[in-house]
Amino acid sequence: MNEIEFKRFVGKLVHYYNRKTIPTTQSLNIWLQEVERIPAEALDFIFNHIKQGDSFPGNLPKAMRDGWQEWIRANGKSNGGFVECEDGCDRGILFVWHTVHCTGFAFRCARCNQSDLIGIPAAKYGDLVRRGYERQ
Ligand SMILES: [Zn+2]
Repeated sequence: MNEIEFKRFVGKLVHYYNRKTIPTTQSLNIWLQEVERIPAEALDFIFNHIKQGDSFPGNLPKAMRDGWQEWIRANGKSNGGFVECEDGCDRGILFVWHTVHCTGFAFRCARCNQSDLIGIPAAKYGDLVRRGYERQ
């Protein structure tokens, strides 16, 4: 998503929870770095995921990534057509955690290519490990 889409999303949440204060520009910029890889098409789903909570998320980027992973699971090919992959992906998706940046991401598994989700990058697990990721 781009900056405009992100700020629109945050603004909607601020209004949903009727918050009296809005996040600072500094916070928004830091948060955006954490979530800019999430495709804009997932934002409606993520909004519905986050609004199940009783209050504005204490860690918005984390809440957005959780919602994004739910979206990926919900939009992945659903049933039996998937074969076991030696990279251990989940229906063609690799859920990984960056050990230095402490951020979670999802990639399409480039070994089995079993997911045709658009909007997320493809990678092989071994290459992700070399880039500092590990399985979630
Ligand atoms: Zn795979």
